[in-house]
Amino acid sequence: MGIDQLNNIAKNIAELIKKSEKTCVLTGAGISTESGIPDFRSPKTGLWNKYDPMELLSTDVLYRNPKLFYTESLNILMPMIDASPNKAHEMLAVLEKEGYIYSLTTQNIDNLHYRAGSRNIYEVHGHLRTCHCMQCQRSFDFSIIIKKRDNGEIPPLCDKCAGVLRTDVVLFGDRLPECFEDAFNDARDCDLLIVIGSSLQVAPVNMLPQSAKKLVIINMGETLYDRRADILYHEKASIALTNIYNELKK
Ligand code: NAD
Repeated sequence: MGIDQLNNIAKNIAELIKKSEKTCVLTGAGISTESGIPDFRSPKTGLWNKYDPMELLSTDVLYRNPKLFYTESLNILMPMIDASPNKAHEMLAVLEKEGYIYSLTTQNIDNLHYRAGSRNIYEVHGHLRTCHCMQCQRSFDFSIIIKKRDNGEIPPLCDKCAGVLRTDVVLFGDRLPECFEDAFNDARDCDLLIVIGSSLQVAPVNMLPQSAKKLVIINMGETLYDRRADILYHEKASIALTNIYNELKK
């Protein structure tokens, strides 16, 4: 596609944003690939090429094979801890601050939206900031799991009650947190939902676009909702959002 056509797409999306009274955003792993964090399904670089994340990042492995969970599974999460927000995260924070975006639902657990400055965020798959004891429910900093794992304490245990510690990331097999209901309501009530960097293959988050009045998808690869989208923008998230922002400011 030529530069003019891509600029037209950005312009059309900017027009939808200007007309919309309530615009919400749903992001996935693709928005963080430019921060060096691999997504699940990109060809060649996605984590599926190496592991089956649905198996390793599951409650089944955590409960039945904690050794595997606290060695292999935890290693999948480690690159996310040191990463920094990229231009796409920053642009979304600016769009929220300037009143163009009402809320941001993310499937990501990397904390990069918050670090970039977004504030009305629903982290529907949890986060890596904390962990908790499965017995007494006390909350601790996530780093305690890493420290204990590195000292050979597998599974890592709570210093207060000796219950097993687990991350506050939502694992396959877990229920979603309460904020999923807010995300669902926003997706249903908003005038425009913009999906960025998600193949929309993970349920139940992939139900959110179903009820959107207008749907824009910004994604490098195909998604399950491409045919339902009002506008599809096959571009890197950072470039797409910068182009849209520039159009909004014209
Ligand atoms: P996914 O891997 O299924 O899909 C990512 C999509 O993003 C792909 O279609 C890919 O083409 C696209 N993409 C990659 N780089 C892009 C870029 N720079 N700009 C625009 N699009 C780009 O990811 P998903 O739909 O989010 O589902 C994976 C699940 O894994 C999620 O539930 C998420 O919680 C979890 N996950 C999170 C992280 C993270 O926190 N950073 C990383 C990996 C996986």
